Amino acid sequence: MKSLLFFLFTVSGILMAQKPNPPGTDIHSFANSSEVVVSHIALDLSVNFDTKTLSGTAALSLEHKKKTKTLILDTRDLTISDVTLDGSTSSASYTLGKEVQYLGRPLTITITPRTKLVIVHYSTSPNAAALQWLEPSQTAGKEKPFLFTQSEAILARSWVPCMDGPGVRMTYSATIRTRPDLLALMSAGNPVAKSTDGIYKFEMKQRISSYLLALAVGNLEFRSLGTRSGVYAEPGIVEKSAFEFVDLEKMITAAEELYGPYRWERYDLLVLPPSFPFGGMENPRLTFATPTILAGDRSLVALIAHELAHSWSGNLVTNATWNDFWLNEGFTVYFEHRIMEKVYGRTYTEMLATLTLKDLQETIVSIGATNADTRLKLDLTGRDPDDGMTDIAYNKGYFFLRLCEETFGREQWDGFLTKYFTDNAFTTMTTEQFLKHLDARFGVLSNKDVASKIKANEWIYSPGLPDNCPKPQSTEFEKVMSQVSSFMNGTPASKLTTEGWTTHHWLYFLRNIPDSVRLEKVIEMDYAFNFTRSGNSEILCEWFQRCIKADYETAFGPMRGYLMNVGRRKLVKPIYTALAKTEKGKTWAKQVYEKARPGYHSVTYNTIDGILK
Ligand SMILES: [Zn+2]
Repeated sequence: MKSLLFFLFTVSGILMAQKPNPPGTDIHSFANSSEVVVSHIALDLSVNFDTKTLSGTAALSLEHKKKTKTLILDTRDLTISDVTLDGSTSSASYTLGKEVQYLGRPLTITITPRTKLVIVHYSTSPNAAALQWLEPSQTAGKEKPFLFTQSEAILARSWVPCMDGPGVRMTYSATIRTRPDLLALMSAGNPVAKSTDGIYKFEMKQRISSYLLALAVGNLEFRSLGTRSGVYAEPGIVEKSAFEFVDLEKMITAAEELYGPYRWERYDLLVLPPSFPFGGMENPRLTFATPTILAGDRSLVALIAHELAHSWSGNLVTNATWNDFWLNEGFTVYFEHRIMEKVYGRTYTEMLATLTLKDLQETIVSIGATNADTRLKLDLTGRDPDDGMTDIAYNKGYFFLRLCEETFGREQWDGFLTKYFTDNAFTTMTTEQFLKHLDARFGVLSNKDVASKIKANEWIYSPGLPDNCPKPQSTEFEKVMSQVSSFMNGTPASKLTTEGWTTHHWLYFLRNIPDSVRLEKVIEMDYAFNFTRSGNSEILCEWFQRCIKADYETAFGPMRGYLMNVGRRKLVKPIYTALAKTEKGKTWAKQVYEKARPGYHSVTYNTIDGILK
């Protein structure tokens, strides 16, 4: 996932972090997966937009590991109406345990060591944490409702009774029944057009973890982008989407040249309505993406490289528990940069890396360099896994892997990674297992000389940023900085050398304009570069923060439009934060927010509520 939630750590979190759990133990699942595992789920669900519920059955195929007489599943806010076993029509004995905050309730079912199939009859709650029900007004087309799921990290249990931990892999199939004017899609083989009866059948033949279960239902159309890729979006933005992602096939080829074949047959994108709170989610075969990357100039497609890279790191070789989250995200940021380098060149990716390092340093400052949550290996005992999912896993993970590349040489390192993805395909991985692989190949722990160069234990088990962190060199950003100083020293904005600048040049330019810049200068920049009318949401987010600081009134109208239309948390939070710093700004923000809030996802409005309270 890109741009995950960023919660502040809790005091209990710090205390808990002193006692790590044994590797591979999943503290976020009730399931007794060491005794029996669910190897396949067959869903039959009806989608009801009026009641905001899914209802039907989940038929779970079992693989017995030990002679057990109970099956324990994860559930959260599900109403269970019946449980039957194998072909029987009579009810099995089952109990729903006590509710535990954010973990939900264990569903304990009496089985025999010969039970092969368990069928759970159930419906979801209108408040199911994984399900986002959108009113027509919250979509791009404004005419039809929309539903999408977000199962990561432990939300799958709020729409499917399952063994909801990344350590359990299964295949799945589904029949989804919905209104015939809507198209249903899943993280599986997908239709390319609406059916006449609103019934859709899905098959996911590769084994996935539950956090990759995904469903979307809406007024969607498909455009092909190549022999094995395409894009789904609402009719009004489907052409724009097809234009934006024209390099998708190139990216898939680049990724395959790096680390071996793409193992999921097709790779399609689904552009969600504006209220999607994240950048993207790597649902297998069908990445869910925010429409805020539709910049019109293909300048924000690094996010797609990221989600595509997850087809190897995460979806193919999966973190065994959420404490090992950096194995999913750090690898993916590293792989994303390598794909981008192949398609767009090193100059481009060194800009990305420079911004990545800046973000990482800021995160470490805000969490605190001695805080346990700045370690790569997390300890989320007693906490919601989302609490630990800061950009440490992403960006510190990236720099650790980049250090390995720079130390061992690119050829050796790529050989290792290709073998790692091939040998461990469709399995789960703990941090300790990964370290063993790394040590076996390069001696990062056992060879004194190598160990002192890499400092693997410090990177993984100690807080803060080790002193051997690689330093990206961006000549492009040096050029940007010289333009910033020219501008601040009196060169008119219109006379600056900005030809050929990409989104990243502009972001870096805006970030480095001092806070004390006078209003006249802000107006001058707007005349020269037309920032207020930019179609690029990342640039707008940066620009509006400048406008707020300088009290540039002309921008407030467009800023209101932006806040009404963009629901991605990363792109609205900094603006509300800047507004909340003055009484005048806060009053204005509250007026806009009152109208914008109904269009936001709970992930977004929970954060903004806190900022404007
Ligand atoms: Zn990711």
